[in-house]
Amino acid sequence: GFDGRDPLLDGLNPAQERAVIARGPALLIVAGAGSGKTRVLTHRIAQLIRGREAWPSQILAITFTNKAAAEMRERLEGLLGAGIEGMWVSTFHSACVRILRREAERFGYVAGFTIYDSADSRALLKRIIKEVDADTYGFTPANAGSKISRLKNELTDADGYAATMNESDPRDRLFVEIFKMYEQELRRANAFDFDDLIGQTVHLFRAHPDVAAVYQRRFRHILVDEYQDTNHAQYALIRELTRPIEPDQVERLVPPVRERELDGSGRVPASSLTVVGDSDQSIYAFRGADIRNIVEFERDFRGAEVVKLEQNYRSTQNILSAANAVIGNNFDRQEKNLFTTEGDGERIVGFTGYSQHDEARFVAEEIEDLHRAGVAYSDVAVFYRTNSQTRALEELLIRSAIPYRVLGGTKFYERAEIKDAMAYLTSIANPYDPIAWSRMLGAPKRGVGPMAEAHLANFQETHAISFHDAMLRADEVGALGPKVRGTVRALGELLVRAARMAAGGGATDVSGEEATPAPVGDVLKLILDETEMIEKLRAKRDPQDDARAENLEELVAVAREFDVKQPGAGLLAFLTEVSLVAAADDLDDTSGTVSLMTMHTAKGLEFKAVFITGVEEGLLPHQMSVDEVGGISEERRLMYVGITRARERLYLTLASTRATFGDVSVAMPSRFLQEIPEGLIDWRQSPGEVTGRGGSSSRALNAPRGSGSGYGGAASRSRGVDSSVSFSGGSGAGGGRSSGSAAVSEPASGNMQSALDKWRERKR
Ligand code: ATP
Ligand code: MG
Repeated sequence: GFDGRDPLLDGLNPAQERAVIARGPALLIVAGAGSGKTRVLTHRIAQLIRGREAWPSQILAITFTNKAAAEMRERLEGLLGAGIEGMWVSTFHSACVRILRREAERFGYVAGFTIYDSADSRALLKRIIKEVDADTYGFTPANAGSKISRLKNELTDADGYAATMNESDPRDRLFVEIFKMYEQELRRANAFDFDDLIGQTVHLFRAHPDVAAVYQRRFRHILVDEYQDTNHAQYALIRELTRPIEPDQVERLVPPVRERELDGSGRVPASSLTVVGDSDQSIYAFRGADIRNIVEFERDFRGAEVVKLEQNYRSTQNILSAANAVIGNNFDRQEKNLFTTEGDGERIVGFTGYSQHDEARFVAEEIEDLHRAGVAYSDVAVFYRTNSQTRALEELLIRSAIPYRVLGGTKFYERAEIKDAMAYLTSIANPYDPIAWSRMLGAPKRGVGPMAEAHLANFQETHAISFHDAMLRADEVGALGPKVRGTVRALGELLVRAARMAAGGGATDVSGEEATPAPVGDVLKLILDETEMIEKLRAKRDPQDDARAENLEELVAVAREFDVKQPGAGLLAFLTEVSLVAAADDLDDTSGTVSLMTMHTAKGLEFKAVFITGVEEGLLPHQMSVDEVGGISEERRLMYVGITRARERLYLTLASTRATFGDVSVAMPSRFLQEIPEGLIDWRQSPGEVTGRGGSSSRALNAPRGSGSGYGGAASRSRGVDSSVSFSGGSGAGGGRSSGSAAVSEPASGNMQSALDKWRERKR
């Protein structure tokens, strides 16, 4: 016991405290942004452990990104002053991969399965679509892929879909065929796509109650952050994990179940479930997130307690008032109003640039000002709706020598040379994977053409052997020329050697104990040395290829770092980590740099100063959302997420013309801007002050700097009409960018672009 108050409850308000100490079977914490949901979750876990109510290994905490998971771990270790080995703090995807790796054999997979990222899935779909001639029906890897993904998120497989489809629609029948082949090919490749990770775990639990029982027993406390963004498959997974264990399964559990684990009827009671969320921050409907999961929680989990948090601890009142005002325009929501006791703070700063460069220049200048005023670069973030907006921003940041990182931008693992090297590692772990095998065969080029590849693949399929074995037996493939046979056999031998090394073969213990896998860095080094990938790039004496060689060296460094962090973990663990990191978020360390990211990536984070850029119709709300049911509401929630990331300073910026795909078009201010009370915004340059034509921005006389008079008053508004940048008011503004012929003086961007590439490369 403690003397007096539990220190873990210090600094919590009464509602937060209730949420930390509640001990019912299910707890729902609903609250607006910045009200301490994540903090409560963390304290709750710490208290369970500190009070010896649970071992770390009995806790499963689900976060939305790997970055959030790492932060939560750190916070927990800080609160507890001790390690938390055995606790699973991870995303849904990582947790499922860990389960699937252990249980893969239960449903005909091998533990070395590959996880296909979207590029891999698309490559597979491309083949299939070609094979069944579906392109003439308008199928593309992208549209078929997203439909399959959506179905998988609803736990519908090809057979399930076939049962409900419209038989008389040839397009639908064709889609089923694609879907079925896709499923078969994945299985044959011993691969899962990203959506499978969750769906297959659910299937596993449903088909094998004994397997489910192991995890139901292990995870006595399940806690889920950002619950509003769970999709149906994730919801189903939680349901499976929170079922009581029936007596027939209880008997089979090892080690045997003890009396005190049981309830009155001989069952192991359901694990406790805590979820936290904010339906106003649901921004992943396009990936199948279902807001009903949170709305219907009380019905789904009987006896659930509900705690509402109202006080915000993150932002100033001005920022909160803007957030409240914007989200208040969504009608299908529960009313809640964020407030703080910290005071109004500064007004929100608005700026309209003549072009996106003008906008970016303003952002860069303000960041410099903030920095001079003592705000660290790492306390500043710049948000945008689409990745294509980063170019202008990056140019100006580079010119101003402001250090920055792009989170979730062009990712390291998406680079061609990195994918090449990873294809080798993947194939070593999973010699049945055709996508990895095919990529590897052509990188570096070794004179094995598509025909030879097809013959080999055929041989592999007819003999039902691995691709490695097929390569070793290249001499039996009659259609191959002697030179190709030799090349292929040599590569096969290399792979077999590497696979033996990766598995720890060669150093087998006499005692017969399982060998420790070799360090991943060694396996990778073997491949790079034998294939001479780096040397070949260096020999080209091209700066771009030099950068590629450096990236490969960086990959070796990543592998070595992994070997140090997780000694003995080996290749499989490495591949798992990479596929999850690469798919979800970035490895990048953001210390000392300004962070650039999309608003989707920003969820759950906070910064002292936040710039939301491109607050224009067509961008935010995005053009694609305008015609979709609920599209605008979702964009508004995204805006709300963006605003509520800011602690002290918020900037809303836009441009009156924007160049997209080489076309310059006139942009209109976002309807969301008008939803913010005028007095909250200090317009440094309002939309009305910037005309759509003419070389430079002109300041309207009746809108003095900082007057807060909305969009520049009547005069500039009427001028705006003919230049189509007027803020017509109301959401009927048309929602789009009309093409204009504005003369925009762009900076010499050719040079800038290559400087940008070089600079980015150097930073890698
Ligand atoms: P989001 O909806 O954005 O995920 P959240 O509800 O999870 O937000 P937290 O990130 O947990 O909110 O908390 C927001 C900020 O407020 C954090 O900096 C946190 O440390 C701080 N905070 C939360 N509760 C308190 C409190 N009782 N006293 C002081 N600071 C607090
Ligand atoms: Mg949070």
